[in-house]
Amino acid sequence: MAILLTGGMGFIGSHTAVELINEGYEVIIADNLSNSSPKVLERIETITGTKPLFYEIDVAVKKDVEKVFDENKIEGVVHFAGYKSVPESTRIPLSYYRNNIDTALTVLEVMKERDCRTFVFSSSATVYGDKNKAPFNEEMPTSTSTNAYGNTKLMIEQIVRDFSASWEDFSAVLLRYFNPIGAHPSGLIGEAPDGIPNNLMPYITQTAVGVREFLGVFGTDYDTPDGTGVRDFIHVVDLARGHVAAIGYALKSKGTEAVNLGTGNGSSVLEVVHTFEEANDLKIPVKLLPRRPGDVATSFALATKAKELLGWEAKLTLFDMCKDSWNWQKNNPKGYN
Ligand code: NAD
Ligand code: UDP
Repeated sequence: MAILLTGGMGFIGSHTAVELINEGYEVIIADNLSNSSPKVLERIETITGTKPLFYEIDVAVKKDVEKVFDENKIEGVVHFAGYKSVPESTRIPLSYYRNNIDTALTVLEVMKERDCRTFVFSSSATVYGDKNKAPFNEEMPTSTSTNAYGNTKLMIEQIVRDFSASWEDFSAVLLRYFNPIGAHPSGLIGEAPDGIPNNLMPYITQTAVGVREFLGVFGTDYDTPDGTGVRDFIHVVDLARGHVAAIGYALKSKGTEAVNLGTGNGSSVLEVVHTFEEANDLKIPVKLLPRRPGDVATSFALATKAKELLGWEAKLTLFDMCKDSWNWQKNNPKGYN
């Protein structure tokens, strides 16, 4: 019995593969490598001693997903596959709708055909929109985004709920991630963005390694303690362990639950920069810039549902996240290349 990770070669999927293998699960990965490197597989093997079975396929293509189910006994699916860049999604929205919605529909269709009843989905705190006030809890109304990426997450959540309502034995957990950063402490797997990073931590580490000249801090006039944006940064290893807990829960449940994966604490952009400097004994040149359009001032989770339902809570600190992010970047200055 195996757990299929679609998009399992990516940043969060690779860390989840490691944690699932550590907990004794058999892991199978399906990924088209559109945003990841084939080297991830051997790195997972170095860390865990086990090389997952890997299918290089587009998981929007039904016959290819069916083949994976035909050749293996799949007990559950964690669906990571999708495009994830907010700014890119405003430039090429149709690609985002096509890839993100098609992959989800195909995987769910094949699961129904093959009677596979356990599903975990990579959703995002972006579904809370800009009207709710942090801490965000799972009962709050969700809302559409100003970008196609966020809207695909909202739509897929709805698709899963409708599907779940039609199939009593189906079980799904919609994991709403806050801001995953950090890397595996081995320094062997981590986040490897293609081109100029959009997200804060890869921009900081690329500045530290000298690929970028300075970090632009987007907005210093928010209604936050130091005026910069506040986010709930969570170590990717904690996040990965949240998936192990979600799979364990979903395997013995029915129905659909949305669950936040966050620490429950917010940190400001400048706090992250200062912690990174302290943890790694480095200086990050910063330039204070105007707000980035579409950003909310403050986002952090109410993390109690994950603890009560899944028995999971984040354990690692911002200091750990900063140390491990830098350990990954300095050992892999060009990512997996
Ligand atoms: P990632 O880009 O590193 O991983 C996604 C993987 O999916 C990549 O390996 C890519 O090659 C693969 N993929 C994309 N389209 C595919 C397709 N059609 N068929 C097969 N494989 C395909 O991203 P990540 O940071 O690991 O994120 C994983 C999931 O979590 C994504 O769905 C993302 O939207 C979601 N998420 C990420 C964050 C974050 O900050 N990283 C936050 C919230 C939600
Ligand atoms: N941010 C920044 N400079 C950057 C990238 C991000 O100041 O180069 C800020 C951004 O404005 C936000 C926070 O860091 O306040 C987190 O941004 P990120 O894109 O990592 O996550 P998201 O905004 O999607 O939560």
